[in-house]
Amino acid sequence: TENRSRLPDWLRQKDPIQREMMNTRRLLAGLELNTVCQNARCPNIGECYSRDTATFMVLGSRCTRSCNFCAVTHGSPLPVDLTEPNRLAQAVIRLDLNHVVITSVTRDDLPLGGARQFVRVIEAIRAAQPDATIEVLTPDFQLEEKALKLIREAQPEIFNHNIETVPSLYSRVRPEADYKRSLKLLSKMADAEGEMMIKSGLMLGLGESEEELQKVWKDLRGAGCQILTMGQYLQPTDSNLPVEEYIRPEEFERLKEKAEDLGFEQVIAGPYVRSSYLADKSSRELLNS
Ligand code: SF4
Ligand code: SF4
Repeated sequence: TENRSRLPDWLRQKDPIQREMMNTRRLLAGLELNTVCQNARCPNIGECYSRDTATFMVLGSRCTRSCNFCAVTHGSPLPVDLTEPNRLAQAVIRLDLNHVVITSVTRDDLPLGGARQFVRVIEAIRAAQPDATIEVLTPDFQLEEKALKLIREAQPEIFNHNIETVPSLYSRVRPEADYKRSLKLLSKMADAEGEMMIKSGLMLGLGESEEELQKVWKDLRGAGCQILTMGQYLQPTDSNLPVEEYIRPEEFERLKEKAEDLGFEQVIAGPYVRSSYLADKSSRELLNS
């Protein structure tokens, strides 16, 4: 994990071990569920688990891609577990979640990229906790039309796909992804009928310029993206990309205001912001407004 003494002051305040978080950790372990909080070594885990919030990672813990910013294990993926949707719904009940974020590893090996498991999970949550709002944070499904249709028809309240970084850094940061493909995914989902809100996120501090950022914001708006998150990239392990720059909190504020000027309905930005950080609070606010 990130060596804390190397971090600037504003990134050192988090205490990752809080007693309240242990209950959530135990509950999730008991149900054999994966979270991106643990698998990606998110620095907010103490805070989120203490608030009974977690981002569930379905379709196993091994990813078929290897992005250079990500700490999720790469390697030959696990078979789809059909008991997972019900176990996840159990966790939603026991944590009494009012907003559930579901993500997955990328499964380029599966038919429709595993979209069917997202649908099963959404259905299980709807049956278990009908009032909960659901946010899916999906891989690009290689733009397979049938996969996108399945997700649309399951009607999550929020469709999220992270653009992650500026196009010039894709080959370094996420070599198996494609900037245009990710934008296209967002615009296809935005064009769909229904009430789904479209969300995306960026990691800053990987060496992007402000001009490049502005171009990405415009592209996202053009693709119909309504909610934007921006946070500091932190190097999760020594084998991941190094941080090029630590962006100060006030700089995040300034960038947030600039992005807001482009018409996003919500921009959440700050050193610790992750795509799912405080998603329950911010999303409910927006969905209820
Ligand atoms: Fe991590 Fe997602 Fe990239 Fe897989 S596709 S390595 S889970 S960021
Ligand atoms: Fe988990 Fe998201 Fe919170 Fe990180 S910010 S601990 S990934 S819910």
